[in-house]
Amino acid sequence: MTRRLLLLCVLSLSTAVCVGAADQRGSAAPAFNSSRAWDDLRQMVAFGPRPAGSSALKSTRAYIEKQLAAAGLTVTEQPFTATTPVGQVAMINLIVKLPGRRTDRILFTGHYDTKPLKDSVFVGASDGASSGAMLMELARTLKDKPRELTYEFVWFDGEEAFCKDWDECARPGNPDNTYGSRYYVENAKKTGTLGSIKAMILVDMIGAKDHVHQDHRFD
Ligand SMILES: [Zn+2]
Repeated sequence: MTRRLLLLCVLSLSTAVCVGAADQRGSAAPAFNSSRAWDDLRQMVAFGPRPAGSSALKSTRAYIEKQLAAAGLTVTEQPFTATTPVGQVAMINLIVKLPGRRTDRILFTGHYDTKPLKDSVFVGASDGASSGAMLMELARTLKDKPRELTYEFVWFDGEEAFCKDWDECARPGNPDNTYGSRYYVENAKKTGTLGSIKAMILVDMIGAKDHVHQDHRFD
């Protein structure tokens, strides 16, 4: 990479510009902008606890959508109603699709809700924000890369249990967890699109060396 090109990358806030310029020379791999991902993580944590159905998660969703739209990405909402131990809860998965030469697709997924806890302020830096932010930056990074397969990024709602742990309130046929991913699969079966999924990568709790301290806010 030349010094001039390096300068372009440093000055530009858009990784895509840097990646595009580098690719024309056939050298550098796409650059994941960790500072920008970190900013997104901090913004999500600033909304406070973000359980499924909460107004804080609605704000988080609006933030993700706004940032992705600013990067030229189209976000589709996948709304559904989940039957949970606390009743019917409206949830929304977010989806960004980057079409490839083939309709066969790879899913990049993670959840953006946080676990509801009564006895602590759980802001989920590792567990909820890290996956949400990582997917945002990955989508921005890969947006302008040529693709053989279609890439689909999915931010799942309602991954966390409403009860204390995943099994406490589970009933046969109705687990208390992974509401968003289960709905996504159900929907893909109904629409006959399940077969085009060739691989799925799920991210969660990235860099969680001490996630207890990263995820709880001690006021
Ligand atoms: Zn998680």
